[in-house]
Amino acid sequence: MSKQTHAFQAEVAQLLHLVTHSLYSNQEIFLRELISNASDACDKLRFEALNNSALFEDAPELQVRLSFDKAAKTLTITDNGIGMTAQEAIDHLGTIAKSGTKDFVSKLSGDQKSDAQLIGQFGVGFYSGFIVADKITVETRRAGATPAEGVRWISGGTGDFEVETIELPKRGTSVILHLREEALEYANTWKLKEIVGKYSDHISLPILMEKEEWKDGELIEPNNEEGGRQPGGMVKTGEWETINKASALWTRPKKDITDEQYADFYKQISRDFEAPLTWTHNRVEGSTEYTQLLYIPSKAPQDLWNRDKKAGIKLYVKRVFIMDDAEALMPSYLRFVKGVVDSADLPLNVSRELLQESRDVKAIREGCTKRVLSMLEDLAKHDKAPEATDDVTDVLSEEDKAKLGQYSKFYAEFGAVLKEGLGEDFGNQARLSKLLRFASSTHDTVSVSFADYMARMKDGQDAIYYITADTLAAAKNSPQLEVFKKKGIEVLLMTDRVDEWALNFVNEFDGTPLQSVAKGAFDLGKLQDEEEKKAAEDAAETFKPVLAKLKEALKDKAEDVRVTSRLVDSPACLVVTDDGMSMQLARMLKQAGQQAPEVKPVLEVNPEHALVKKLDGSVHFHDLAHILFDQALLAEGGLPADPAAYVKRVNALLS
Ligand code: ADP
Repeated sequence: MSKQTHAFQAEVAQLLHLVTHSLYSNQEIFLRELISNASDACDKLRFEALNNSALFEDAPELQVRLSFDKAAKTLTITDNGIGMTAQEAIDHLGTIAKSGTKDFVSKLSGDQKSDAQLIGQFGVGFYSGFIVADKITVETRRAGATPAEGVRWISGGTGDFEVETIELPKRGTSVILHLREEALEYANTWKLKEIVGKYSDHISLPILMEKEEWKDGELIEPNNEEGGRQPGGMVKTGEWETINKASALWTRPKKDITDEQYADFYKQISRDFEAPLTWTHNRVEGSTEYTQLLYIPSKAPQDLWNRDKKAGIKLYVKRVFIMDDAEALMPSYLRFVKGVVDSADLPLNVSRELLQESRDVKAIREGCTKRVLSMLEDLAKHDKAPEATDDVTDVLSEEDKAKLGQYSKFYAEFGAVLKEGLGEDFGNQARLSKLLRFASSTHDTVSVSFADYMARMKDGQDAIYYITADTLAAAKNSPQLEVFKKKGIEVLLMTDRVDEWALNFVNEFDGTPLQSVAKGAFDLGKLQDEEEKKAAEDAAETFKPVLAKLKEALKDKAEDVRVTSRLVDSPACLVVTDDGMSMQLARMLKQAGQQAPEVKPVLEVNPEHALVKKLDGSVHFHDLAHILFDQALLAEGGLPADPAAYVKRVNALLS
């Protein structure tokens, strides 16, 4: 193939413009990105070679080499990984394939300063080479291809790039950076060693550099200050040395890994640019042996609600990378967890299908789930400083202090997903229930656990009361709460979309039943005294004829009509039967275009209310009945079936 010119995809061009024109606060990340690509390329080769060892040719030892030429002003990153065909080079180095990177580009504001900072944290893969280079040459040959099928790709990082075939004796990829004048500092052994130490120590692949000597033969000692040591300068010796630790981060002992290294590793595997909230790193021994390094991100990704979203776990078998997004290793409700599992037992040629069936995998999934739950329990335990005293925070260990507020942060981002586990993972239901937090009629923030609630229950209260609604405001102001407010009984306010569904699976906490205040007949049990009960019964008795008429008038809308002592200020409210679907859930299903049974609610009226008292003998009885019903529907977030008719009725009465 002779020389061809191709244009970059529009997004790439946009990105490149930014990379080359922005002030750069964190230039050196280009090396991390290119080494990471080289390492991925070696992982890919190793994986393909599992079924075709001929791909290794005579070079089975995978490695990355860094070299520079001060005179030519080049820095070269060479790997003997999978390489690229001409078409792959055109596709991969001319477009943005990764959705993560695309999202990232879409977040760019156009403001150079803040964008530059974003890129600095995120990294933009291959294109970050243009931070330090005004031209990049890539020479690459796909493993398994012949030397005649080598490819050269060249670009100045503006609108287009050139591709041609060349003769290349070896497989793999060399990225040759033609350094900008102001980036010549990277053509320096110490500088490169320092950056590799900072970002790429955990890369399991050896990164090599040619050893240098002083011209007179004296070996230089480790020192960052090359300048001014000896005249004559340094020469290359032809001998290559490994400059990184070359051990996968998760295989190293915890005590040897700094928080910063953990966070860096997280950023690499997750493509998140924020540090993780927390992590857990363990070697699990026993019938199934594996290492787990699991992270909880600080922020939820945009596609969190996509239940088909891939899990964030990378699977390795004996340090060989097997696959990304191994969904079998983590239940769906923990799909936000990122990390690595390295198994000692699984076969290297394990497929996704095989993973689903493997007993080892099942054990790993259970183990990982338990670990994540323990990690969350620990955060939850230390979320709030012990109450009653400010001094206690002084006694808290640094470690515990760091955990203050962490669980609330986690819960705000991922709490709703966690709730899916109630219906998905019955084995851990009890543990999950303890991790739930809600707002309540007495606490505005989402911070109340079932245990907190129970500790505040009134004497004689024998249920945990809750209400579900579309919004916090709707929940707080719903008529069903009136008597609870009057009596000072706390009610949990549930406003997540999954609440209703999730609560189907939880009937009680620690032996105390959960009771919706919008379901079933009103019964406060011992919380109501005899006098109140008697008064309610009397009211029901005297109200009977009116109720019968109401039932008749509303027979198409209401399942039943009855009096209640649930209400204080409102004339009426709607409730559903104990085992019925709530009106809110039915509405939600309908909105989502799903089949939902027609819910016919029960209308409950407050016999003490002036409007209700007026009913008896009113000439407007029929209109009033419908208005009562439709208003009750409005109050709980619904819409009258015939809004125009409702407006007409109200207006008729108003005038
Ligand atoms: P990402 O690594 O996120 O996919 P990059 O822009 O860094 O994005 O790279 C784009 C693609 O180019 C990679 O996915 C890979 O297919 C290919 N690529 C980059 N560097 C190499 C390399 N050293 N060897 C083989 N392929 C590479």
